[in-house]
Order: sequence, then C-alpha cells, then structure tokens
Amino acid sequence: MPPTKNVSLLRALLTKAESLASTVSKNEFPVLLRPLAERRKVTSVDFCPLLVDAMLTTHPEGFRILLNSDGGRDQELKERYRNESKRKLLQPRLRFSIAHELAHTFFYDLTGESPKLSKKFKSGGGQTELENLERYCNTIASHLLLPTQMLSDAFLRIKAITPESILELAQTTGVSLPALLFRLDKSDSLFIKKYFRGCIVLVAQHDEELKIRAVAKPRSLIIARQLRQMNSNDVWSLKTQGGCEINPTRLPKSSTAILDVILDQSRCQKEYQIYVAAVGGFDAMNSFLITFEEK
Ligand SMILES: [Zn+2]
Repeated sequence: MPPTKNVSLLRALLTKAESLASTVSKNEFPVLLRPLAERRKVTSVDFCPLLVDAMLTTHPEGFRILLNSDGGRDQELKERYRNESKRKLLQPRLRFSIAHELAHTFFYDLTGESPKLSKKFKSGGGQTELENLERYCNTIASHLLLPTQMLSDAFLRIKAITPESILELAQTTGVSLPALLFRLDKSDSLFIKKYFRGCIVLVAQHDEELKIRAVAKPRSLIIARQLRQMNSNDVWSLKTQGGCEINPTRLPKSSTAILDVILDQSRCQKEYQIYVAAVGGFDAMNSFLITFEEK
C-alpha cells in the first residue's frame, strides 16, 4: 500500500464521501442510508445481537453490515432500513452507526471482482493505526450525513440561531444533536459567514451534576472568555462577569447575561442573549440546548 499522510488521505476520502452523499441525496437533506450503501456495494444490512455496535464484513460481491440489536426487533429494523424515507428516518444513532460502517468501505478498492483493502491510516498523534481509523471513520460518517455544501446552505438559511432552529436542523438532517454540534464546531467558516459571535452548547444533567455533552463555537471570532473555555465533557460551570452562577436547569427560556470579552489584552463586558430549551434524555436525566449570542 502506498504510504500516504493521514491528513491528505482523510481529505481525499472526505471529498469522495461528500460527493457521493450529495449525488445520491440530490443535494437535499436528509441523506438516506440505503442508496448510499448500495453505491458502496453493501448487499445487506442485518440486525442481530453483537458484542459491538456494528461491523462490516466483505464477501465476493461486496459488503455486509451487521448492527447490534437485542434480537426482538431485527426484522422490523431491517424493514425500516429498507424503507427509510424523508418522512420516516431511522434513529439518528443507528444512522450514524451505518454511516460509520460505510466510511470503512472507502478504504477498499471496489473496481475489481471483490473488495480489496487498498488504503490505510498510519499510527500517529499518540494514536494507534486502529484508533486513527476509527476516529477518522467517525469524521467521514459525519460528512456523509452532513456534506459541507449542503450543511452550509442549510445553516446559512437559518434566520436566528436558537435551540429550536438547531433542533430543527438536527431533525431534518437526521443526526443527533451531539453529531451536529461536533460537525458545526469544525466548520469555522459557517460561523464567520453568519457572523455568529457566541456558542451553542448541549448540557446533560446527571443527578446533581451538569456536564457539557457537546459544544460548537467559532474559532476565529472573538467570543466571551467564559464561552471560549467551554469544552465537551467538562463539568458545567458558568459565571457572569459579576460572579453569578448560570444554571441551565433554572434559566428562563430567554435571558441575558454580562460576560467578559478579552480584546487586545484589555477586558471589556458584553451582553449576551441566552436561549434555552429542554431537549430530552441523551443517556442523561435531562438535557438542555443553550445558545449564547452577543447582542
Ligand atoms: Zn469502525
């Protein structure tokens, strides 16, 4: 196999994945899984009890995807996959698992009789070869479900960034909120085009503890120090410039807060508009989607 740098290989695979996803979906969300899978020579998608979430196997005519299920709804899930439509999408988590397995097919050469492994990532960045492969397959999966140009068009069409509009975007694209925020967080140019000086954060409540599940923020626009410091998996702790704690579980639907903005080593205060909405479980007792935007 030719030695390729991980970054350039990833870039080439993302281009290929996005081009296929845009073509099969005719540039309209949601990107359905079955037409994608068929183009990647996946001949069947089956559900059965597995020790892992999902796996991809090869056979002379192509691939087979197996997905973990408890055994009770195997046939129903298979039917739902087969008949997936804009109106009846599979669960976001399942869609992501299938997209992840499809990402693995991009490492194979499909021009011959049977799939032949032809590309691989190298170890590096403190990760083994396999860890890099799995991590980058998640990235490829997120681009299959949210191709850059389609995401950009949809995001720029949003009039105001609020929990409701972000939730609606996740629903029309058929991805989970964490997957959407992960993708937005890596799309600095979208925030710049929108001139969105703020951040979008998903907070999960576990008993007494509040944890940041996912956060999307611009890299190149100046936002408040408190928002800049937010990271996924951090315990939630946000204080206003005056030292008041902001607790998502007690916030009204709409409020404002004064936060610190550091500009050229001097500190100033800016007022932020905050919107919050409870968005259900995500493996937690409750979750809150919050948007902050400088007024
Ligand atoms: Zn994998």
